[in-house]
Amino acid sequence: MTERESPERTAPIWASDPEGRVFRRLPVTTMLNGAELTLPLHVLTGRTPGPTLGIVTNQHGDEFLPTMVIRQWLAALDTTKLAGRIAVVSVANPLATAACQRLTPEPHGRTDLHEAFPGNARGNTTQMMAAVITAQLLDHLDFHCDFHAGGTGGRLQGRVDYHGKAPPALRDRCLAMARAFGQPFVHENDLTGTSAHYVTMTRGIPSCNPEVGGTFLGPDSTATYIAQSLDGLTRLAVHLGLVDAPLPSMSTLAQIHFGLAGRRELRPRNSGYLESCFERPADIGKLITRGTLLGKVIDLYSYEVLEEIVAPCDGYLFFSRYSGTVSAGTQAFALAEQAKSQRG
Ligand SMILES: [Zn+2]
Repeated sequence: MTERESPERTAPIWASDPEGRVFRRLPVTTMLNGAELTLPLHVLTGRTPGPTLGIVTNQHGDEFLPTMVIRQWLAALDTTKLAGRIAVVSVANPLATAACQRLTPEPHGRTDLHEAFPGNARGNTTQMMAAVITAQLLDHLDFHCDFHAGGTGGRLQGRVDYHGKAPPALRDRCLAMARAFGQPFVHENDLTGTSAHYVTMTRGIPSCNPEVGGTFLGPDSTATYIAQSLDGLTRLAVHLGLVDAPLPSMSTLAQIHFGLAGRRELRPRNSGYLESCFERPADIGKLITRGTLLGKVIDLYSYEVLEEIVAPCDGYLFFSRYSGTVSAGTQAFALAEQAKSQRG
């Protein structure tokens, strides 16, 4: 979709909000159980003018970590010291969230909200939700953060993606945002298509796409990823000029920057129980040498080892997962190939 094709924009509902915090529910449609489907919108308006940062979480219904992180982060923000605005859709897909599943439980059309932007008010329910988010949020931002996590699959990760195919000036601003978030990995990705991230790209709005932590990871790993995310949000807010705080030092962070050419995803060819060899947040970022055993897939029925998943190259582990059942083709491990990645 091009700028010219976008529907006419009117000022968002929050345009005249006074300083402070406002919570609203944006109407989408009526559901068969008689309730109204709404989307939650939190707006924090600062005392002084500044940019507007929009954040969207829980687009995938089983990704709760960013949602709870943002709650904690917003609670600690002092709007008298905020320049500009932060607008957050805390649960972008309430139907998927209620079902604790990635996609909208509806029978027709595209059911992945992440692939339904800019949306269509006359489309299926997933497209209707996307249309409301586009009209009330994405069309009115200076910066955008499309915040995701691993779902119930047990993903361990800490990276920020940005759209490497954006025009150079926009691309550089997206890269700066991605770096500012301070995660171990920055990934130059091709996000062309129908994501919220890509919609903001078409409007010239710099955007980044963090992917941090996962769901049901246990208390220690969850605490690590919450702390990592809170730190990232503060770094991002300082970078964008929303808050003036002493920036935590980036010098202690060794970020690895990699593109699609260096991305090596490893997916089991068989369904079964994956015994993972890399189940801790501290494993993420390790340099894995070619031939290292990453995990085994075991047949629950015959007890046989169906396959061993082995590193095909030397590379930095940028996501891994806990032991647990997997379906054939599941994203189990991923390496940033050493020869094609940069440390810095
Ligand atoms: Zn997601």
